Amino acid sequence: MTLPEINSLYSTDERCRELLKKLRWPLGVECLRCKSNKVYELPTQKKFECSECKYQFSVITQTIFNDTHLPLETWFMAVLLLVEARKGISANQVKRTLGISYKTAWYLCHRIRKAMAGAHKPMLDGTVEMDETYIGGKQRGATSAWRKANQHKKEVVIGIRQRNGELRFFHAEDAKTGTLAKYIQEHVSADVDVIVTDDLPAYQKAVGTHKHETVNHTAKEYVRKVDDFCITTNTIESAFSLLKRGIIGSWHKVSAKHLSAYLEEMTFRFNRRKRPDLFVDTLRHMVTADPMTFEDLTAEKTA
Ligand SMILES: [Zn+2]
Repeated sequence: MTLPEINSLYSTDERCRELLKKLRWPLGVECLRCKSNKVYELPTQKKFECSECKYQFSVITQTIFNDTHLPLETWFMAVLLLVEARKGISANQVKRTLGISYKTAWYLCHRIRKAMAGAHKPMLDGTVEMDETYIGGKQRGATSAWRKANQHKKEVVIGIRQRNGELRFFHAEDAKTGTLAKYIQEHVSADVDVIVTDDLPAYQKAVGTHKHETVNHTAKEYVRKVDDFCITTNTIESAFSLLKRGIIGSWHKVSAKHLSAYLEEMTFRFNRRKRPDLFVDTLRHMVTADPMTFEDLTAEKTA
C-alpha cells in the first residue's frame, strides 16, 4: 500500500468506516452488547442500532480508535507511516508529516502499537537462535570500562528468532538462567529442533533438555559448520542491529517504561515485512483490540 493508493481508496470518512466494518465483522455486523445480528444502520449518525436491545454503537466503539477526535483518514495515514518505516518513526516525524500536535501523534502511535502487541504469536520451532542485548544509558564516548560498570543500568532485551520464521523481542528483568528459561518455555515449541546461543553460561541450564548448540563468542568464533548446518546467532544479531538503529535513528530516546511497546512494533512489522496486506492487517488488529486511554498510557507502572 502506498500513500497515493491510500489517498484514493480511503479519501473519506465513509470509505474508512466501510473498510473497518469489513475487518471488524467479516460475517456481518453484530451487536456489541447482546451479540444479535439483527442490527440496522443509522447512516446520518454513522452508527448502528441493535433491534433486540436497542444499543447504539459505531464501527470504532470499544476499539483502539475509541473516542478519537481525529479523522479516520489521518489514522489511516499514521498506520501507513508506521508500517512502512522499517526502523520505526518518531512521534515528532508523525507530528510534522500529518500536521497534528506532538501529544496527539505520540498517543496515536502508542495506540497503534498496543493493537500490534495483541497479535497472535505462535510458538517458535525448527532452528531457533536466542541472544540478549542491552539498550539505553549513555552510549556516545563511553569507555568499555564505563560500559561494563554501567551495564546493570541498561535495559535487557532478549531476542528469539526462528530461522526463516518469526522474531520475538522481550524487555526482560535480567539475562539470568531463570529468566531465559521462562522465555524459552513460553515462546519456543517443546519439540524445537535446536536452540543456538552464544557461550553465555546462563543458557546452558536455561535450554533444559532441548538440543543446544553454542558459538564461542568469547573466542571470537561467529560461525561454525557441522555438516551443512551453520551454528551461528547471526540472524538474531542482525535483528538486534535493526532494533538499535531504530532506537538511535528514529525513536531517539525510549524510556524503559515504553520499551516493550517499541519492541512489539518492531517485531510485528518485521514478521509481516513480506506480506502485501501489512497495512490492512494492522487495521484489522486495531479494530479488534480493546481501547487504551491516555490515562492508561501515562499511568505509572505498578508492577
Ligand atoms: Zn443488542
